[in-house]
Amino acid sequence: MADKTVRSVCPYCGVGCGIVMQVEGNRVVKVVGDKSHPTNFGRLCTKGTTCGQAIAESGRMENAYLRQARDRDPVRVAMDQAISETARRLRDILDTHGPDALAFYVSGQMSLEAQYLINKLAKGFVRTNNIESNSRLCMASAGSGYKLSLGSDGPPGSYEDFDKADLFFVIGANMADCHPILFLRMMDRVKAGAKLIVVDPRRSATADKAGLFLQIRPGTDLALLNGLLHLLVKNGHTDPDFIASFTEGWEAMPAFLEDYPPAKVAELTGLPEADIRQAAKWIGEAAEWMSCWTMGLNQAPTAPGTPMPCATCTWPPGRFAARAAGRFP
Ligand code: SF4
Repeated sequence: MADKTVRSVCPYCGVGCGIVMQVEGNRVVKVVGDKSHPTNFGRLCTKGTTCGQAIAESGRMENAYLRQARDRDPVRVAMDQAISETARRLRDILDTHGPDALAFYVSGQMSLEAQYLINKLAKGFVRTNNIESNSRLCMASAGSGYKLSLGSDGPPGSYEDFDKADLFFVIGANMADCHPILFLRMMDRVKAGAKLIVVDPRRSATADKAGLFLQIRPGTDLALLNGLLHLLVKNGHTDPDFIASFTEGWEAMPAFLEDYPPAKVAELTGLPEADIRQAAKWIGEAAEWMSCWTMGLNQAPTAPGTPMPCATCTWPPGRFAARAAGRFP
């Protein structure tokens, strides 16, 4: 029997599944899904189920070491002493050079609790903005795209949208392997009749489940998105009232989109024209649709010769079309 249980969040892929850690003798002995968590309702993938091992049997350094001088070997010291010495040195730098002389480099793979504490230390106590992590590469382009197009860097969608969508447009994301619990949530809906379009240069495990798989030529995703918006406009599948009320700069779009007729987009992307038209038709006719992407878009380079983004904003125009069509709250 566990001494106690601790509720937390899986530290791995970013889906944010709730976990319940069973603790015995101050060691995590088992991790199960949190049935009351609105992300996963008790489900966990293999990574989440085994995340306790990284804490209990990680092979990581378990003791503190201190180097009395740079050219001396580190020696083991008590944890209290290491913490006091670290604090003393940080305080010294802070008092002598000010808060911006300190910078913290952390990791998206830290536990939620550790992330909270290090941000509190950096921003709340030291009062520096210099805190950085590997998460920056993942989300910087998406964050600035949100900011430029929506004025806020928070994604507009919600996991609850998954349970209401009639069509999923997944681009640059292999959800089955990388975000398994969200993938299962999406597949529950697909099994109930929702359609799935997957855009990926690779035939991935996610692509295997698609009703329409667009195996795009690498680097041509923007041409496809512009081409889909071209067809949505031509097919009358945008929402003019929504566009008038909630968007700016739309007047530049029709002329811009004239450069992306289906035949040209087919040539650029290597996709059959019929498939591009089919995707636009499904999107246009779906009552509720949702687009999902990850690093296949976020970390794509814009190389010379690559079709450029939508002229109105840096957001993928397909997503812009979704907003324009009033599909997102
Ligand atoms: S999908 Fe898996 S790895 Fe990602 S948060 Fe959930 S349990 Fe963790």
